[in-house]
Amino acid sequence: MSVLRVEHLVVDFVTRRGALRAIDDVSFEIGAGEVLGIVGESGAGKSLTGAAIIGLLEPPGRITGGRVYLEGERIDDLTGAAWCSVRGRRIGAVFQDPLTSLNPLFPVGDQLVETIRCHLPVSVDEARRRAIGLLEETGIPAAAERMAHYPHQFSGGMRQRVVIALALAAEPRLIVADEPTTALDVSVQAQVIRMLKRVCRDRGAAIMLVTHDMGVIAQTCDRVAVMYAGRIVEIGPVAAVVHDPVHPYTRGLMSSIPLMDEDQRRLEQIEGSMPRLDAIPSGCSFHPRCTKAIERCRRDRPELVKSGVTASACWLGAVGGARP
Ligand code: SF4
Repeated sequence: MSVLRVEHLVVDFVTRRGALRAIDDVSFEIGAGEVLGIVGESGAGKSLTGAAIIGLLEPPGRITGGRVYLEGERIDDLTGAAWCSVRGRRIGAVFQDPLTSLNPLFPVGDQLVETIRCHLPVSVDEARRRAIGLLEETGIPAAAERMAHYPHQFSGGMRQRVVIALALAAEPRLIVADEPTTALDVSVQAQVIRMLKRVCRDRGAAIMLVTHDMGVIAQTCDRVAVMYAGRIVEIGPVAAVVHDPVHPYTRGLMSSIPLMDEDQRRLEQIEGSMPRLDAIPSGCSFHPRCTKAIERCRRDRPELVKSGVTASACWLGAVGGARP
């Protein structure tokens, strides 16, 4: 059974002038020990998808369609109190800025012990032992001594490791990580992502990794879903999507990864920008930016169609599986 199953998720921003569709019919699954990357430019809907799954959509955004299941149990219809037994306990969250998750006024050890005791029936001594274990597991040197340190006494990379330890404290089944390394140095990014992946795999937890960075996806994920204007436009195993992308938008994103091989052909850059919610183009919403667009693209919206191990939403890719 999948740890997370999202079926036809729809999120609208309900305004006085009507509803603006921000997430439009998004479906995917993540298995135990698996890392699914959600990638796209700013405004594609990837962070909103994460927020909807963990019940942290800000008004006027709200789920207006579809279902979300955690280990087979429906969670999209939970109310405030019921969310408390799921978020933090069965779903851990890691955000870009570690300081949004850590209280600057308390030592990190106290925060870990409190989180563990809030969710698990263990003594203070046992919680403290587990907290030190979590800091060690996430690569904090001299973990026992660091328990007494305050968040400002850690570097950015070490602070994000503490946040990951905090997210893992209640032994969740799913971690939703939204741009967890964007604020870190490139060298630290890879270490933190590798650690997150290793720890979750060891524990059999699933990871949903939201990022704008195709390089991070290529290094980290088992599968990837590419989002554009609130929809998934391509999804599949990371090796297939990175090395042989079908959708012109994915091909454009790939051009943002630095090439190691000088002879490798550069893929086309994407001109233009993500459409606003109140100006989503007709047909394929990518058509104003797509160099491969044909007449039909302006008129009809392509659905995700499976071709080999991946699925993509492009009229050209759908024709006999041909690459655009
Ligand atoms: Fe481009 Fe048309 Fe494919 Fe959309 S459906 S990505 S506009 S070729």
